[in-house]
Amino acid sequence: MKLLFEISKDGHGCDLLPALDVPKVSLPEHVQRGIPLPLPQLSEIELSRHYTCLMKRTFGVNSGFYPLGSCTMKYNPRINEEMAALPGFRDIHPLQPEHTVQGCMEVFSETEKALCEITGMDAVSFQPAAGAHGELLGVLMIKAWHEARGDTKRTKILIPDAAHGTNPASAVMAGFTVVNIPSDSQGCVDVEKLREVAGDDTAGLMLTNPNTLGLFDKNIVEITKIVHDAGGLNYYDGANLNPVMGIVRPGDMGFDVVHLNIHKTFSAPHGGGGPGSGPVGCKAILRDYLPVYQVVEKDGRYRFSNPSKTIGSVKAFYGHFPVVVRALTYIRTLGAEGIRRAAAHAVLNANYMREKLSEHCDIATKGLCMHEFVITLQKVKEQTGVTALDVAKALLDNGIHPPTMYFPLIVPEALMIEPTETESKDTMDRAIEVFKKIYDEIRTHPERLHEMPLTTPVRRPDEVGAARNPRLRYLGN
Ligand SMILES: *Cc1c(COP(=O)(O)O)cnc(C)c1O
Repeated sequence: MKLLFEISKDGHGCDLLPALDVPKVSLPEHVQRGIPLPLPQLSEIELSRHYTCLMKRTFGVNSGFYPLGSCTMKYNPRINEEMAALPGFRDIHPLQPEHTVQGCMEVFSETEKALCEITGMDAVSFQPAAGAHGELLGVLMIKAWHEARGDTKRTKILIPDAAHGTNPASAVMAGFTVVNIPSDSQGCVDVEKLREVAGDDTAGLMLTNPNTLGLFDKNIVEITKIVHDAGGLNYYDGANLNPVMGIVRPGDMGFDVVHLNIHKTFSAPHGGGGPGSGPVGCKAILRDYLPVYQVVEKDGRYRFSNPSKTIGSVKAFYGHFPVVVRALTYIRTLGAEGIRRAAAHAVLNANYMREKLSEHCDIATKGLCMHEFVITLQKVKEQTGVTALDVAKALLDNGIHPPTMYFPLIVPEALMIEPTETESKDTMDRAIEVFKKIYDEIRTHPERLHEMPLTTPVRRPDEVGAARNPRLRYLGN
């Protein structure tokens, strides 16, 4: 496909600016550009076709089934977009005086109240741009809390081996050493191992529940208590809140600080790079450490305030406000009962697919799952040479976005499937048929699987090459 610059032709440009109706003023010579700005010249229809063509080459939630485990690719209701585009929300500037953006500040305040109710926390910051960013903020707050008490020997963060890779990365970025907690044979935290390592050098624990195997850790209250008894704090990675929202709260499980992924659980669009939002909620003991620009209300007026021991800023201004508008719209549309039902349906859908697929595939864990489950192709690979990657590529030929691959790391040849609550039984039945067809093909013509996908614009990119030797400058085809 050609770039706009390559299809540009002199004279094709369309002038969309109205005629000048004010006196012409020239910039001083020294700030004028020497050569004209090299903008592509295209007619409106050429431009429109270019973007339509690009759009057809991408795959999103609106193109088809997108069971990307741990990413909660649920449908993004259009009403969220309508609300975020209201002129009073859209046409604002972060430096506007507070009295001119009272409605926007009310959005922050109302969303904070809702998220506190859902998580069992006491305050929320909306600054972080995504989940991983929220993790960094959360562990920095834990660090500041220990330091304020003069407790500087707490240098370790405990993280289960099933954790998302961002957890250890955030802990290390905040200056901590990571201690890996192994999983037990059921795939949950090995409580005895945790007890062995928790001690006076423990700053805290980072954990997601349900975990990345889609299992709810029934020992969670005991786990968080072990860490508290050792003098540490508990961080809840809320990226997996979708199956438990409205049902259980991290605050009641013993967590002190949590991030949420609005772009996952609360239906803001994601994929393709954002913008996301990873608000961080905390219990009252950590409230004074939150970033600057906390919204406070007094007598119906809102103002920004900086917490007394704030760790500062992790992002300019107030975070991604339009994403917060989407979250509030979603929460208000569903209401308390709707949120609980969305969670229940996420669990129902995952278990429906897990049960049906277990006739064809090896499921990595036994029994019921929460919102997602993991298939392993270890045996298939040994017997036929077909890998998880091959199956992911074969799904592409069938109009399905591949599941998350090779994650969690503790399952070999993993494919992690999360249907979400917004998919119908028909969609899931079609996907189950596709899996069956692929597994039949593995038995009869395993070699064909290495050739797939056959229908996509790009077939098998060199992923390692792209990561190690990225070509960041476009040099033409
Ligand atoms: C997605 C995810 C994250 C990271 O969130 P981002 O918004 O992508 O930065 C962290 N933990 C878990 C379990 C996740 O699924």
